[in-house]
Amino acid sequence: MHPDLLARYDRPVPRYTSYPTAPHFTADVDGATYRRWLGKTAPGTRTSLYLHIPFCHEMCWYCGCNTRVVRRPEPIASYVQVLIAEIDAVADALPTRLPVRHIHFGGGSPNTLAPSDLTRLINHLRDRFDIDTNAEIAVEIDPRTTTEAFIQACAAAGVTRASIGVQDLNADVQQAVNRIQPYDKIARVVAALNDAGVDDINVDLMYGLPHQTETKVSNTIDKTLRLAPDRVALFGYAHVPWMKKHMRLIGESALPDGSQRWRQFETAANRLRETGYIPVGMDHFARPGTALATAAEAGRLHRNFQGYTIDNAAALLGFGASAIGALPQGYVQNDPDVPRWHAAVVEQGLATIRGRALTDDDRERRAIIERLMCDMEVDLDEVATAHSYKPELNALSGMVRDGLVEIRGHTIRMTSMGQPLVRMAAAAFDRYLDRTGDAAPRHARAV
Ligand code: SF4
Repeated sequence: MHPDLLARYDRPVPRYTSYPTAPHFTADVDGATYRRWLGKTAPGTRTSLYLHIPFCHEMCWYCGCNTRVVRRPEPIASYVQVLIAEIDAVADALPTRLPVRHIHFGGGSPNTLAPSDLTRLINHLRDRFDIDTNAEIAVEIDPRTTTEAFIQACAAAGVTRASIGVQDLNADVQQAVNRIQPYDKIARVVAALNDAGVDDINVDLMYGLPHQTETKVSNTIDKTLRLAPDRVALFGYAHVPWMKKHMRLIGESALPDGSQRWRQFETAANRLRETGYIPVGMDHFARPGTALATAAEAGRLHRNFQGYTIDNAAALLGFGASAIGALPQGYVQNDPDVPRWHAAVVEQGLATIRGRALTDDDRERRAIIERLMCDMEVDLDEVATAHSYKPELNALSGMVRDGLVEIRGHTIRMTSMGQPLVRMAAAAFDRYLDRTGDAAPRHARAV
């Protein structure tokens, strides 16, 4: 991409894993609202569950997650106890048991859980929800710290997918972000998961890290391909030290600039495409024939807080500190502070501190943004509703002029050059986005 274009469009914008996005959640939605919404959930509502485990053994300096370093087992065991109480409080507030096809354990590092606690949590979910026999149960795994016992517990509890944090496989880059993990160690963890029967493997990679170059990114991709992952997620490092203090430990002079980041992304994406991986949305790649690749090709992809997914559940219930849930009425988020979340669950059952009730306008903009982010195109007539808001397409005229977007009739399509900048096009439909640029940006840059 021409450097002028990059300079114009590589700006901080949301990743649109929800709309409205989390910075626009407010305290108007609290535990009482959530309880009321849960009580109105229709029997048979397709539901997904998310459990947040906010603990790690060490802090990676690029980390943007809600987590903290804990090396003793006691705080984690106590957290599990409260998680179980929260699951009960939510299940009790529902009128009926709900059917579940997707469960995701994220973090943090869910493998900081004792193996017996993982089993206990999954068994408890089975007690309180109707978990489909073919449900996808996904667990994020830190290959540096996971154990054979944890992998065996995953397999025995019915875990189907493991998401492995790899990021980069070059020693100097790993050193610069405080995440040392040799390739052989990761390969042993993937082999152990496969042997145990957890053979759907997702690998997370990053570009834009300190000391990364195109050659090093290529090297990481080549080694990653030897792991034969079913999907690869390729994220740009978001350097926001004013929001995450540990990022100050990253030497800014070693960070690649905008055009280097762009070339690193292109290098990785081209390599994955050449090897047969199907591009999924703006930053995922899936092996042909996998459910994600098939959904992407058929226009049945969805986007939620875990990124691109085949999950089309109407309700997402979130458990744990900072967890976000989504019900037909709107979004809810738990207190991100573990002691406050703990106290709220013990005292009130629910720990909701903010959220957003959806308006019809929000729903329509959300549908447009989701189709653009997933399919790289949207037919406005298909998502229009009776209370239709009329999209203001003039906001896209610059991107059309620059060859990044095409508009034919009521269909908006990202060109191949524009696809990596799809978040900028999605932002044109975001009525809440602060476009003044006055405040320190909360979002990652577009590339
Ligand atoms: S293991 Fe993951 S969640 Fe934990 S500090 Fe590293 S990047 Fe963050």
